[in-house]
Amino acid sequence: MDVLVIGAGIAGIASALGLADAGLKVYLVEKEAAVGGYAASLCCKATDVCSGCSVCVVPEKIKQAVTHPQISLLTNSTVQRVGGEVGNFCVEITQKPQYIDTERCVACGLCAEVCPAEPKAVYLSSAEAIPFSYVLDERLCLRFKGESCKLCGESCSTKAIDFERKPRGQELNVGAIILATGFDIFDAREKGSLGYGRYPNVLTGLDLERMFNHEGYLKLSTNGKEPKNIAFIQCVGSRDEGHGYCSQVCCKYAMRLAHLIKYQSPDTQVTIFYIDLQTAGKGFAQFYQEYRESIRFIRGVPVEVSPASSDDLEVRFEDISQGRVCREIFDLVVLSVGISPRKDSWDLARILGINLADHGFFDTKEILNSNGTNVEGVFLAGTCQGPKDIPDSIAHGMAAASKAMQALTVRGR
Ligand SMILES: Cc1cc2nc3c(=O)[nH]c(=O)nc-3n(C[C@H](O)[C@H](O)[C@H](O)COP(=O)(O)OP(=O)(O)OC[C@H]3O[C@@H](n4cnc5c(N)ncnc54)[C@H](O)[C@@H]3O)c2cc1C
Repeated sequence: MDVLVIGAGIAGIASALGLADAGLKVYLVEKEAAVGGYAASLCCKATDVCSGCSVCVVPEKIKQAVTHPQISLLTNSTVQRVGGEVGNFCVEITQKPQYIDTERCVACGLCAEVCPAEPKAVYLSSAEAIPFSYVLDERLCLRFKGESCKLCGESCSTKAIDFERKPRGQELNVGAIILATGFDIFDAREKGSLGYGRYPNVLTGLDLERMFNHEGYLKLSTNGKEPKNIAFIQCVGSRDEGHGYCSQVCCKYAMRLAHLIKYQSPDTQVTIFYIDLQTAGKGFAQFYQEYRESIRFIRGVPVEVSPASSDDLEVRFEDISQGRVCREIFDLVVLSVGISPRKDSWDLARILGINLADHGFFDTKEILNSNGTNVEGVFLAGTCQGPKDIPDSIAHGMAAASKAMQALTVRGR
């Protein structure tokens, strides 16, 4: 019996590999043009020693999944309708037109060079995109706005671009469904007083991850120089009124990034503003003791970030240990944004008939079975069920695969 996995982030990939290695046929459906989810865009945070961030396990898992003979990968695809029951679900999938053939594209970038749209309508979705192919975004493409432009098609030496492609629909019959649709990063613009989107030297943790991943080092966008005095602000979008839960990953990624910055540039000052530090996890408490020697930790809540000069920013915060409001100048402020439920979770909850929990993550049937849902044969994997780091998402994805296999075995399928 075949199994459908919705979402090809690291959790969905772990589920798909678990099932495929056991001999089942898997349909792995991914909404975006590339697979891997957020984990594929994070940076390795090792210095001269491994910091245990687990990002290095991701590329190998992706490679295994996209080359596995038992896994059919459908990118640019979404589930429109689900009928039937465990052992016999009928699923309707729509695949958006892929105007650039991933098999033919050699990622030379000529199409992007000649594209006159602003922003460019053809791009690589990320430097690590798998499949490693350019995508054409019809929302930005002048041709789809009624103009006769076909410059990208004319520039393509492998004839990979075809504007005539249409959306494709298909029906799948599967015995079980694993939902692994992941999370949305908290939109830092919602905390307007912290200046994200207004001041170029206010970044999110994800921006920093991507900068390290692409460039290997940090630079300020305002003057191209290396930052010398950096503030990390923790719990942006976690543990507040609207998000009364801990995102689990932010303290660790912030401390690891801070440590990496100090390793690369020992003269740079790094301060972490926090409410409570989450140091659980094998060996991490020991790392924390080590990090405390080079990183300044302030227990306090920054309330406002404002410009102090063309490059510098003033952070106003309440220092809880001293019980007073203070101001300090930094040249880079990093907002450690947390893990939020996806805004479109409700659509899939409706299509599948499954419940959402209080915060908007998908709900589990019982606390002890954190994969099962209220619909028999539909299981959860990874952060769509709640915040998790990469190792926990992989473990949860593999557990979902075993639960799906058990459900099919019980029914003799
Ligand atoms: C800034 C930041 C830094 C982090 N650093 C670390 C770190 O150093 N170490 C660590 O262990 N963890 C880290 N994490 C956590 C890590 O990113 C997550 O554990 C991991 O990405 C979770 O994987 P996932 O598959 O559950 O979700 P996702 O990565 O969100 O993947 C979900 C996939 O499902 C797809 N999808 C969504 N909806 C649909 C749909 N309707 N149909 C089809 N496909 C769909 C998405 O496009 C995506 O590809 C970090 C997180 C953040 C935000």
